[in-house]
Amino acid sequence: MPSTRDYYEVLGVEREAGADEIKKAYRSRARDVHPDTSDHEDAEERFKELNEAYEVLSDEDKRANYDRFGTAEPQGFPGGGYGYADPFGGGMGDLFSVIFEGMAGGGGRQQVRAEGRDMSAQVVVTLDEAYSGASKQVTYNRVAPCATCEGTGAAEGGTVTTCPTCQGSGQVATARRTFLGTFQSVAPCDHCGATGTVIDPPCPTCGSQGRVQTRETVVVEVPAGVYDGQPVTIPGKGEAGLRGAASGSLIATVRVRPHDFLHREGDDLHAQAGIPMTIAALGGEISVPVFGDSITVKVPAATQNGDSLTVRGSGMPRQRGGQGDLVVHANVTVPRKLTKEQRKLLEQLAGTMGDVTSHSKLDRVRDWLGL
Ligand SMILES: [Zn+2]
Ligand SMILES: [Zn+2]
Repeated sequence: MPSTRDYYEVLGVEREAGADEIKKAYRSRARDVHPDTSDHEDAEERFKELNEAYEVLSDEDKRANYDRFGTAEPQGFPGGGYGYADPFGGGMGDLFSVIFEGMAGGGGRQQVRAEGRDMSAQVVVTLDEAYSGASKQVTYNRVAPCATCEGTGAAEGGTVTTCPTCQGSGQVATARRTFLGTFQSVAPCDHCGATGTVIDPPCPTCGSQGRVQTRETVVVEVPAGVYDGQPVTIPGKGEAGLRGAASGSLIATVRVRPHDFLHREGDDLHAQAGIPMTIAALGGEISVPVFGDSITVKVPAATQNGDSLTVRGSGMPRQRGGQGDLVVHANVTVPRKLTKEQRKLLEQLAGTMGDVTSHSKLDRVRDWLGL
């Protein structure tokens, strides 16, 4: 029973109309002639006609056939028109999606999100603080639970009741009966704004939201051994939930400032340390300051410039227990000034080692003057 009317005329578009234009025209006409909403006597007939026209003109191949032969069916192909014998068969899926896209009124289908989102912040610590752990204050803008109503959203004496329309689900199911069958669809509950609860009267501070914009300060406990970039989570200090629903977390990212002479690699600490040439040659001990402590570093005999000396367990604390190492890079130093006696001793040493030294007249004068 294909329509006798011209499909373009049915949709009210030009023969050159593009796919978008056809879709648009279909939607606007579908609303006018839909049997559920139209009071036209022949609404159902007109709706069928419209669907028939749309089904053909929205399909490139069928439209081409229609333009050429005045029918959507491939020529020489037996069979009847585009009835509704098998409404869920080929081609109809698109038709339904168009109908419901058009009727949902765009958006609004999502249920209102109740829980608060996570928020982020940044905390800067020195390496000393990373070594020992620290409590740092962070001040930030936060959507916090409303203090007036304690998050309920109700004014004093007001009540919070489960929405009678949706029974607290925030959604209402509607059944549409059409000649194509009965369709179930879910829409946000208008009565409660999709929240599932009705508040009467609402809190004057937050207007029933149960949360307000504030500026808040929290203390972030930075663990000893914290890494640069490590997140510290403070549950419940993110965005407050709607009407007392769970708040998100505050996730504070810890930034560790570089130290003047201690350099961190993993849980190890590295330092450059000057080692007098005598200690380097003979062996001995030096002390290296690490965060207020003085760490004794053993220097083996014949330590060379650039050698590394490791003190186990004197590095950064490990967050799972234990401690990294302190690695000292030897910087062997030569005295800038020698007494007459020291010079003599060194010259003797040089002599025994076969080293040729140059000792100018000027140096000798200096020695004599004790400079
Ligand atoms: Zn409130
Ligand atoms: Zn409701």
